[in-house]
Amino acid sequence: MTFPAQLLRKNNIFPKKDFGQNFLIDDQTAQMIIKRAGIDKDDIVLEIGSGLGALTVQASKKAKKVYGIEKDDRLIDLLKEEVVKSGQSNIEIICKDIMKLNIEEFAQTQRKKLVIIGNLPYNISSQILFRLVENREFIKRAYLMFQLELANRITAFPGSKDYSRLSAVMQYCSTVKPIADIKPHLFFPKPAVQSRVIEVSFFDTPAFSYEKEKFLFKVIKAAFSKRRKTLKNSLAGDDLLINREEAEKILKTAKIDPVRRGETVNVEEFVNLAKEAWNSTREDKW
Ligand code: SAH
Repeated sequence: MTFPAQLLRKNNIFPKKDFGQNFLIDDQTAQMIIKRAGIDKDDIVLEIGSGLGALTVQASKKAKKVYGIEKDDRLIDLLKEEVVKSGQSNIEIICKDIMKLNIEEFAQTQRKKLVIIGNLPYNISSQILFRLVENREFIKRAYLMFQLELANRITAFPGSKDYSRLSAVMQYCSTVKPIADIKPHLFFPKPAVQSRVIEVSFFDTPAFSYEKEKFLFKVIKAAFSKRRKTLKNSLAGDDLLINREEAEKILKTAKIDPVRRGETVNVEEFVNLAKEAWNSTREDKW
């Protein structure tokens, strides 16, 4: 690979902070990530934010095909040059905002579930994650690099200080596990914090219909909306259209102590809670 700092300087391009641009500068690290991801020759890989191609090229050496999505049009020509230089013929670069890509349509034209990889722009990491969750029936697995703090919030267990809305949602629909830690000096520009790659393996069948799942996610969101408040207080409000008395009743029916806090509730309990809340606020039963 061409060293990103040199390549960018030569072309008068300054890394954009609001695009989360921290480019991997070390081929071996990229290789290690792709190796741990276990990508094989049948895999169709969709990369989020290809940058200057560090992961793109390494992934293409293992996969059947790699589609590299990159939003920053200033990088596209350089990225394409890196692809040509690599001699790999199974890479296609697409200049697009990942938030505007219709993943369902894309996967259907491939007739195959996708493997997602990406050193994610940190400012939209959680939005991207929710988007992947929504489209998970088209995704086989995902290998995503996050700032350590966010990675911890994704993999944390109930009761721990990092357990959050993201942990509960991800653990409801997938198994998540850390696969590599990457130090700041392996990027240009050097980020202030450590990064971590996590593997997300989505469960095969969605547990509930789309509508019910959306409601479950709302319940989880409400439970975490007011940290340090009791569940009966945080569930009451506009989002779920219930008041404190109703919240208390629903929690008791779901066998959850109303004075517990969201941070202690596990996925199974959230599902029970959502069922009770749904049943008590709607005509049609869960
Ligand atoms: N994968 C490369 C670059 C990582 S930096 C590497 O590891 O070296 C994150 C990349 O995501 C940047 O290139 C940035 O321009 C791109 N990006 C940021 N927001 C994006 C979006 N919404 N859609 C697609 N790419 C995006």
